[in-house]
Amino acid sequence: MRGCSAWMMALAVSLIATPLKAQDRLEVVASFSILSDFVREVGGERVDVTTLVGANGDVHVYTPAPQDAKKVADARLLIINGLGLEGWLPRLLQSSGSKAPIVVASDGITPLKLGSQADPHAWQSVENAKVYVKNIRNALVQADAADADDFRRNADRYLAELDALEAEVQSEIEKIPPERRKVISTHGAFRYFARSYGVDFIAASGVSTEAEPSARDVAAIIARIKHDKITAVFLENISDERLMRRISEETGARVGGTLYSDSLTDEKGVAPTYIAMVRHNIKALTSALSR
Ligand SMILES: [Zn+2]
Repeated sequence: MRGCSAWMMALAVSLIATPLKAQDRLEVVASFSILSDFVREVGGERVDVTTLVGANGDVHVYTPAPQDAKKVADARLLIINGLGLEGWLPRLLQSSGSKAPIVVASDGITPLKLGSQADPHAWQSVENAKVYVKNIRNALVQADAADADDFRRNADRYLAELDALEAEVQSEIEKIPPERRKVISTHGAFRYFARSYGVDFIAASGVSTEAEPSARDVAAIIARIKHDKITAVFLENISDERLMRRISEETGARVGGTLYSDSLTDEKGVAPTYIAMVRHNIKALTSALSR
């Protein structure tokens, strides 16, 4: 009898510990890793998140893989950045035949413009990230009303963490002498960050990684570094680092480290979540510029 009750107990424990079955969860597809992190924070165990452009991927120049059409076709909800970031999406949607509602996470944010082009990197301001999270929360509540309380509770907790993160960013930036708050980055991914926190970013290429900077662009950057006495250039996890290394050699500006702009790392990397990414970037900036 004792053996039997132990077996019953083991069964009971295994039933309690069994995670929700995949079919009970809301299938959400997010276009890139930063959005997936937000969806996981808000959706918790009630959602299953699939990412199209994964860790260290470049969402600007992505070429959808054949299996992406199936992922999109199976989605109950599709979450994208918008602001022109996912130029490859319309064709993918068409080939997948997906009928899933599309949620534009940046909805409600006033975009920065570069000419007529919107700058898509709105998430680099934590204030905007909170707008993303609220949009994602509202979309999850609408898609799965039965779990609305969970989504609201998760979102409240995460939004409070983002408030704390934003205060941290502001107090860290204040440690950098104002005249040193300028850096060179590889592509123009930090204009929202610059506007929110008062660090001047000069990008070697535009708001997309699509176009390589010309020889004239590079010459202009080098002249600017010398003229403005800029002390640090930064690499990016999604861009080729050779150009920045060359600029560093020609100007004497130090390579301040790697900034994570458009993509998280995998679990083993330094930026597996949005919050870890912002913390890493701010640490790289303060340690390169405070000296
Ligand atoms: Zn970018």
